[in-house]
Amino acid sequence: MKTISEPAKELVVRKETDVLVIGGGPSGIMAALAAAEDGLNVMLIESRSFVGGNMTIGLPILGFLGQKGNQIIKGLPQKLIDRLKAVQASSEHRPCPLHMSLTLVEPEAVKTVALEMLTESKVDVLFYAFCAGVVMEKDELKGVIIESKAGREVVLAKTIIDCSGDADVAYRSGVPCEYGNENGGVQPPTLMFCLGGVDTEKLRTSVAEEPRTYLTDFIPAEYFGQNNQFVLVGMRNLIKKAQDDGLDLNVERTILITGLRKGEVWVNMTRVNGVNGTDPGSLTYGEIEGRRQITDIQKYLIDYVPGFENAYFLKTAPFLGIRETRRIQGLYTMTREDIMTCNHFDDAIAVASYPLDIHHPNGGGCTLEWCGDCYDIPFRSLIPQKVKNLLVAGRCISTTHEAMSAIRVMAPCMAMGEAAGRAAKMAISQGIQPADIDVKKLQQELLEKGAYLRIGKEELV
Ligand SMILES: Cc1cc2nc3c(=O)[nH]c(=O)nc-3n(C[C@H](O)[C@H](O)[C@H](O)COP(=O)(O)OP(=O)(O)OC[C@H]3O[C@@H](n4cnc5c(N)ncnc54)[C@H](O)[C@@H]3O)c2cc1C
Repeated sequence: MKTISEPAKELVVRKETDVLVIGGGPSGIMAALAAAEDGLNVMLIESRSFVGGNMTIGLPILGFLGQKGNQIIKGLPQKLIDRLKAVQASSEHRPCPLHMSLTLVEPEAVKTVALEMLTESKVDVLFYAFCAGVVMEKDELKGVIIESKAGREVVLAKTIIDCSGDADVAYRSGVPCEYGNENGGVQPPTLMFCLGGVDTEKLRTSVAEEPRTYLTDFIPAEYFGQNNQFVLVGMRNLIKKAQDDGLDLNVERTILITGLRKGEVWVNMTRVNGVNGTDPGSLTYGEIEGRRQITDIQKYLIDYVPGFENAYFLKTAPFLGIRETRRIQGLYTMTREDIMTCNHFDDAIAVASYPLDIHHPNGGGCTLEWCGDCYDIPFRSLIPQKVKNLLVAGRCISTTHEAMSAIRVMAPCMAMGEAAGRAAKMAISQGIQPADIDVKKLQQELLEKGAYLRIGKEELV
């Protein structure tokens, strides 16, 4: 590979802060809000022009309810939902036999409301800046290098929380990372798009009344008779028929999400295998190919699926949705067994219940496996090996490829963010490393602030 040397140069230190959060997705928003609660200086750097991450691409938030139907994510994530509800921009947590629960949110309102919450909390939000490098002193992370229209600048911080989804900070600072399954295969990305003019009443009553024609995966037909907001997964037979008729569809399942606005449906059906979400060339290919696939998917829906007869194209999501890239190696790596045996951990900082849900890296299939209840996410999975002053939250914490497919949904990512923000605050106030905080005290604070754990306050004294 041809290389050139970049001359060394002095960089301007744009800011020195207490806590620095990189990435303003579900985990980053919560990390910044939690860290800012007691008046520490908190900065959040986001490369796009809005916060929300994948919460803005038309997806329902999964994971608020567990497999037994009880609410297992509370605390700050619930506060965001309450604020969204106040402007009619979120549904209830609706039970779903396949996903356990759906919480439908309006993407544009997520951008506005989450930003309001951050500014109210005095978080210093910086958009249009990409974290491109790190400032290290031996094994201590001292800050990050950002790239923007203003050039390369430095932000120094006492504790940094990597909520980039791709472990960008951890990777650049030398934390060992893994990528994909044993063959390096990752779950494929999807360019979400939204159709208007859909008769969702016709869609759901057709499924409820003609279940043999409109076969759904895991979700019984009666569910659609009783619910007017839903995620529909299945209709494999219709896809097969459309493929036989010549449509170019490279998925096996129809996946449709009702929007909060009447007649809107978000479509989760483009699929671009082989994209590396950490490489711009590969991401560009994903955007081109995902956009190309929309034409035939739209034709399929209009010609084969009831309720779409008068549907029209409204918009694509603001970016290609990346399911999986790097995962850090932390002090504990969550495994498939932890999920399937509903494992308890003494250092639990969140409880999750979403099933293993692997969109296969090759082909158009998916594996789903439920454990029957909940499992804990341990604090050690948020602490990277080898690098100090750093916490990680969201989909890139320390897990295997399989375990990541379960913990990646947005409600647990938010809960991890809250825990990381509170942990950073504790570490700074005591002048110690995040890895050395008293986890019982963190658990106590989480419970006091309304989070859900499978231990009571009385067990922590
Ligand atoms: C197609 C698809 C469908 C999915 N379906 C669902 C679903 O139905 N429900 C559900 O709950 N979950 C779903 N998920 C999973 C879920 O959306 C993600 O796993 C979750 O959003 C991860 O949250 P996060 O905070 O870790 O990262 P993200 O949501 O990815 O947020 C990361 C943020 O960091 C920013 N960023 C990244 N790198 C940098 C950098 N170097 N510098 C500055 N900023 C940076 C990004 O711009 C982004 O805003 C789906 C994912 C995809 C892709």
